[in-house]
Parts: sequence; structure tokens; C-alpha cells
Amino acid sequence: MDLMEKIVSLAKRRGFIYPGSEIYGGLAGFYDFGPLGAELKFNIKQSWWKMMVLERDDVVGINASTIMSPKAWEASGHVAGFSDPLIECKKCHRRFRDDRKPDRESVRCADGNHDFMPSRNFNLMFKTCVGPVEDDSSMAYLRPETAGGIFVNFKNVLDSTRLKIPFGIAQIGRAFRNEINPRDFIFRTREFEQMELEYFVRPPRVRGGEDDACFKEWVDKRLGWYEAIGLKNIHPREQAPEERAHYSKATVDIEYDFPFGRNEIEGIANRGDFDLKAHAKEGDLLSYFDDETGKRFVPYVIEPSAGVERILLALLCDAYHEEGDRVILKLHPHLAPYKVAVFPLLANKPKLVERAREIYQNLKLAASRYSFPLAWDARGNIGKRYYSQDEIGTPWCVTVDFETLENNTVTVRDRDTAKQERTAAGELVSYFIQKLNIS
Ligand code: ATP
Repeated sequence: MDLMEKIVSLAKRRGFIYPGSEIYGGLAGFYDFGPLGAELKFNIKQSWWKMMVLERDDVVGINASTIMSPKAWEASGHVAGFSDPLIECKKCHRRFRDDRKPDRESVRCADGNHDFMPSRNFNLMFKTCVGPVEDDSSMAYLRPETAGGIFVNFKNVLDSTRLKIPFGIAQIGRAFRNEINPRDFIFRTREFEQMELEYFVRPPRVRGGEDDACFKEWVDKRLGWYEAIGLKNIHPREQAPEERAHYSKATVDIEYDFPFGRNEIEGIANRGDFDLKAHAKEGDLLSYFDDETGKRFVPYVIEPSAGVERILLALLCDAYHEEGDRVILKLHPHLAPYKVAVFPLLANKPKLVERAREIYQNLKLAASRYSFPLAWDARGNIGKRYYSQDEIGTPWCVTVDFETLENNTVTVRDRDTAKQERTAAGELVSYFIQKLNIS
């Protein structure tokens, strides 16, 4: 099995990720996140939100609806241009992205080689109807990115807060793209979550260089975040001018070395004043009045835009380790779905089980205050339980043994070193708070 196969299998078996609508034969490009996947996703989003919003005075968050007026997507250029080149085989009518022609062996045509029609553009936005009448007048789109919801609320946020330029508006939410060929597990799906920040700065004519400096700062900050969550093998790559969107002054992709190749997990772009100008119906509707200088202008915007699923997949690939027949998911403790597992040394000794249960309940009470999830396990033997927790990335296991009954100490085993140390059961809360660096 190659690494991707192992990860797909682990993800399903242990409840990280299931194929969407599986009992109905699946639906290509859609996945469901199980109990552990939901926690991992939540932790990624929480870590992002903490860095991008909570720890800053100059950024606020919003939560806009996924369906917006179709006029917004016309103004932003998505109706006309959010498309990929598509080719269709005349014989089998299968469709592919033109820039990623199928390899003839893996996706063969029913009678030999494909015979493609000329390439055409395929718009990736999903359409739906709003209200009880289904016609052109009720047609709307599921948002293909979250940024649109930020731009259309630019004025609302300015009017309802006391933000002064430079400032940012952040959002985490679902985005939908009718990808021609979803692929590589959760790397390219048709429904996913984005974490986006639009950071507004003075344009060059008002304060030359502010946008460039800010762009560089955000690239560094975002790289710092990946380092902080322990993701290795990432590479910033500056897009060449011919690769960039026409409005972009500079774009850096943050790429990860996936088993299927180096690919983008986040894009950071200096989008200039394109978006606010596109959405501004009247002259200065989406502009900013700078009371320092007495000038009104349309800000430039720096956009770090990341995909939750791609980061999650990168984290799984990076964390996956095999040692002999043990699989260890070396996730950063802040991201691990469970922080601690508690179990009795032997499941058939009622006194041990009872004491372990007590310790678990006490820890659970404290853990809920600091929101770190705990696991309880009393199945099989202790070796199997360690194996099972290692495989889902639980950083620490607490074992209650006969010595606990005598002196109230427990062993704490570290996932990465497999080393054990004895600690007083009464001090476990402060022990983990310190380990997790939370308070
Ligand atoms: P790609 O070139 O791979 O299609 P993109 O450049 O169109 O990606 P952006 O529009 O910049 O992607 O979206 C920002 C982020 O959203 C990406 O870096 C990625 O993490 C995520 N993303 C985009 N499309 C998908 C998708 N189909 N499935 C999962 N995540 C996605």
C-alpha cells in the first residue's frame, strides 16, 4: 500500500473521513468527517481563528451566508470567468479538465482511445433556485469562495465597528466548486471549507509601499502559523506574472509535498483594489475615509486564503509514521482530536476499573473547562490500547495500575517517545495544562 492508500484506510477505519453518501454508492467529490475528523477540523479552524482574529486588535471575523445575490458573482467576474477548460470524449462522453488530460491507461475510453471534442470553458459554480419558482429569475449560486461575503459587507463592518486602516475581516466557511475531476482524496473536492482574511491597506498612491510590505508580512505570518502547528515540508512559491490573476500584483502559493506531488494548500495575494471596485455600485460606496489625512480612497487588499481540508490532509500525511508494526500519528498536541486517554491496566480488575473511571471523570471535568477532549478505553490489553491511541495521535495515555491503589500515582505515557513517567493522580490537570501550554 502506498502512503495515500494507508491514510485513506486509516481515516475511514478510525473515523476521520468517510466517503460522502457511502451507503448510496458515494457521490464523487464529497466527503463526510467522522468523530475524529470533526475534532481535527475544528482544531485547525480554531488555531487559525486564534491567530488571525482573537490575537489581533485590527481584525474582526464575520459569518456570511453561503448563498448571495447572483449579482455579486456577476460583479466579481465569477459568472463570466470562474471556469476551467473542459474536454469531452465524443465516444464515451466522459469529461475531463483539458489541462489535466487523463492518462490513457487509467481512464480508458470504452472502445480504445478517447476522441476529444474541442475544449470549452466550464463554469465551476453550482446553481440552485431560491424560492418556490424555478426559473432564471430565481437562479442563484452556491458561493465558490468565502471572500465575496467579506467584500459585500465591507461597508457594514466599517460602519458597525471602530476599525481604522489597515484592518482585516476574516471568515471561515464552506465553499462549493463543481470541479470537473475531483481527485486525490480530500485535496480537490466539490464542497470544502476555506479560511480567508481580507486585509485592507492604503493604496500605493496614498501610502506607497504599504501594500507590498503588508503582503510580505502576511506571507511570513502564514508560514509562521504552519510552523506553529508543526506542519513540515511546506514551500512558499512566488507565482510568475503570467500565472497570476490579472488583478493580482503578487501571489505566493504555500505548497506542501503531498505523496501525489507538490501542491497548493494556501494562496496569498495582493489583489489591489479589484474586488472593492468591482462591488462598488456608486462611486465611493466601498471606499474608506481616512480622517488622519482627510482623504477618501479604495483600499488595496491582501488576501491569505487557505483550505481546511487540504491542510488537514497535509497534516495527516506529515504526521503519519510507522515504527515496526506500530502506526503513530504525530499530530501537534493542540490539533490532536483527543489530548489524553485514560485506562485501567487490566480491564478485568473491578478495583482498577473503578479507580481509573474516577480519575477519568475528574480529569474530564477539568478538561471540559479547558476544552481538551479525553478518551476512555478499557478494551483489549494495554498494548493494543496504546497502539490504538498512537494511531489516532493521542499525545498522552494515563494508566491506572496497582500502584495507583496504594499511593495514588499513575503512569503517563508519551506518544512520540513511548516513555512513561509516574505522576500524582491529583496533579494530572496541572500536568496537562502545562504540557498543552494552555491556561
Ligand atoms: P487550485 O488551483 O488547486 O484549483 P485555486 O488556486 O483555485 O486552487 P483558490 O481559489 O486560491 O484555489 O482557493 C484558496 C484555497 O482553497 C486553496 O489554496 C485550497 O486550499 C482551497 N481549495 C480550492 N479549491 C479546492 C477544492 N476543490 N477542494 C479543496 N480545497 C480547495
